[in-house]
Amino acid sequence: MDQEYKNQAKLVNSRPTWGNYAQDSVSVFQMPTIEGHAVRATLLATGMAAAASENRDSRYLQTLHRWWNNMVGKKMFITGGVGAIHFDEKFGADYYLPTDAYLETCAAVGSGYFHKRMFDLTQDGKYIDELERVLYNSLLTGISLSGDNYTYQNPLNAQGHKRWDWHECPCCPPMFLKITSELPDYIYSIANEQLYVNLFVGGEVKLQLNNNDHLLIRQETEYPWKGKVVLTIETNRPQKLPVHIRIPAWAKGKENPFDLYTSGVKETVLLRVNGKIRKLNVDKGYVLLDQLWKNGDHIELVLPVEPRIIEANYAVKDLRQKMAVASGPLVYCLEEDNQSVLNSLQFSVEGKMQVQFDANLLNGVNTISLTDKTGKHFSAIPYYTVGNRKGKTAYQVWLSTN
Ligand SMILES: [Zn+2]
Repeated sequence: MDQEYKNQAKLVNSRPTWGNYAQDSVSVFQMPTIEGHAVRATLLATGMAAAASENRDSRYLQTLHRWWNNMVGKKMFITGGVGAIHFDEKFGADYYLPTDAYLETCAAVGSGYFHKRMFDLTQDGKYIDELERVLYNSLLTGISLSGDNYTYQNPLNAQGHKRWDWHECPCCPPMFLKITSELPDYIYSIANEQLYVNLFVGGEVKLQLNNNDHLLIRQETEYPWKGKVVLTIETNRPQKLPVHIRIPAWAKGKENPFDLYTSGVKETVLLRVNGKIRKLNVDKGYVLLDQLWKNGDHIELVLPVEPRIIEANYAVKDLRQKMAVASGPLVYCLEEDNQSVLNSLQFSVEGKMQVQFDANLLNGVNTISLTDKTGKHFSAIPYYTVGNRKGKTAYQVWLSTN
């Protein structure tokens, strides 16, 4: 690869450029879209966002919004994966989202960092929606359930796709570790002396308040298998703290901010404080609870973790007459012995689906039962668990509807 690029490198302003591949053909401020090597591009954007949070330079901010909108609106896969093309490990053209795309694990990590840095700049929940999509899907599939085998590429439909215990380019496992070790920072955020509850993960957080008092928040949940999340507050004396609770956009029927993907849920989101229902005034993806918190106060959020059908925008040629299945933040797939079995199936977007927890399957997962057009039953598993069962060597996220 290196020699090929050295041969192609041209001199611009007396220095070599590797073109879009390395995002250095023109100033980033002049690049209209996110292009080139997906890991480099997303990590570059992450660094630019980190710089922008210090310098607040409008050129940085405009470029970041433009690139993020292009990525999430036209180049992001339903699993949160990016980098469609194997050659150069790069972003494809707008709306080029083939089912056998490359999607390196490191690019999932890079995009996850980019989403989080955009949240840090804006406190807008849409960035956490996409971070969550990455964490539960394109990132988590990068490691086996046994914890010692990894993927480099993460296609959405595949046959014979395996994880490896070593790779000649072992970049993905350390990147996986880097982003997962930052999880505590993602679950909660503090900005402008306000608390943001971003992710629904059980645990405790101890906050030091400006008056030097402490406030402890305990989060209990079985998310993503169940939609109920309970936050209990422990404090020595009543404390004033604005708390923003994230309401994922999928839970309100918005799968993607640009309608690259569309879906809907039947049940509604419920929010209670000390048992009393609160109105869902969602602003930038959060409901603000601005009040005095007493010891033992509890916030209960119930999200519609039910099966839902996802369809892609008509502009995506490769995904016309296809559907995907999801529940909560998880994208699902069918896994069988052979791809030809999967290729012969047809499903209906009107088909009935049921979700059920199976404690004995794949370390305990929700499965989704669905029926094809001939009446045959199938059980879909979370995409992140593919390749963990003997003999099951083929899977499909995108199922045919005709
Ligand atoms: Zn990698």
